[in-house]
Amino acid sequence: MCAFYLPHIYKGVSSDRRGTCELSEYYKSFLEMSAKSFSVVTVAAVLIFFLKTPVSMQAPLNGSKWSYIGPDGEKAWPKKYPFCGGIFQSPIDFHKDILQYDSNLLPLEFIGYNVSSTDQFTLINNGHSVKMYLLPTMYIRSLPFEYTASQLHLHWGNRNKSEGSEHTVSGKHFAAELHIVHYNSEKYPDVTAAMDKADGLAVLAILFEIGPFNPSYEKIFRHFRNVKYKDQMVQVPGFNIQELLPERLDEYYRYEGSLTTPPCYPSVLWTVFRHPVKISHEQLLALETAMYCTESDDPEPLEMVDNFRKVQEFHERLVFISFREGFVVSVVIACVLGVLIILAVAFCLLKRKSCKKEGKDNRRVIYKPGTHKEEDYISKL
Ligand SMILES: [Zn+2]
Repeated sequence: MCAFYLPHIYKGVSSDRRGTCELSEYYKSFLEMSAKSFSVVTVAAVLIFFLKTPVSMQAPLNGSKWSYIGPDGEKAWPKKYPFCGGIFQSPIDFHKDILQYDSNLLPLEFIGYNVSSTDQFTLINNGHSVKMYLLPTMYIRSLPFEYTASQLHLHWGNRNKSEGSEHTVSGKHFAAELHIVHYNSEKYPDVTAAMDKADGLAVLAILFEIGPFNPSYEKIFRHFRNVKYKDQMVQVPGFNIQELLPERLDEYYRYEGSLTTPPCYPSVLWTVFRHPVKISHEQLLALETAMYCTESDDPEPLEMVDNFRKVQEFHERLVFISFREGFVVSVVIACVLGVLIILAVAFCLLKRKSCKKEGKDNRRVIYKPGTHKEEDYISKL
């Protein structure tokens, strides 16, 4: 690129001089030489500056350069993206101290999710994740507003770790996590306009665990080889996106949080389904090993692994849950078990006591036949 600009700059300067100046040939050639030297020196200085400057510093202040590791990793996000160091950040850990049952949380309704195979989704490697654009005919009802689908993407770990989800439950990570991003289409014209508004986005999160082969997820996963490198994309035939959701749609965690990637806008109404979906070990491995953050011609390819953000502080906030039996049942089971254990112990103690008593009686009974035998012996004598 710089090699292209060098002759261009020099040519421009020298031809301008020739066309506009009425100076002696000597002076003109001096000027041309000066201009040439100046151009070469300037370009060389600029080149040296850019070659010596770390890549991270070349990015504009609000540029899109961020990563999960290294100098542009999570800790550095707030420097370029102030919201990442702000309030209402995601993901979080769901633990019992912050959970509150809410009877108003109804099952979500998905409209237009069953997409015909004649329609197509675009799957792209964006250098941070694998993302599939969804159709504007897909939306969710039964939220405070109508939210139209925008895209889905995944977060995962690496082949040597079982942790890959962003949200955790009582400190436990899941293998991976799917996010289906929607925007408030009642108030905003598109996802870009909505993404920095407090009521702008609604994201569904689905946790993954290892189980049998999942044919629905394979409809996306089988295209990974075509999006191995950054900016590669492929068309995916339409299918029913609801197949990617867990069976129990009525049990979920609900809270107000943020995008989990820069710029971390606190604009997301989160719905994290309680029950994970299952994919096979081979499918998870394919996800963990298929893609790179770098472009195909990058001399230093960087594997796309561990693209999940650490859980964030969750001070003085609540997560609302649509289910309660987890607590009631566990309390009831604990009480019943406690009573059963006490009864069992009491029963054993009583039995032991009566056994001892019977033992004493038995000893007396054994003694009596001995007496008879003794009497018989004596009588035989
Ligand atoms: Zn995400």
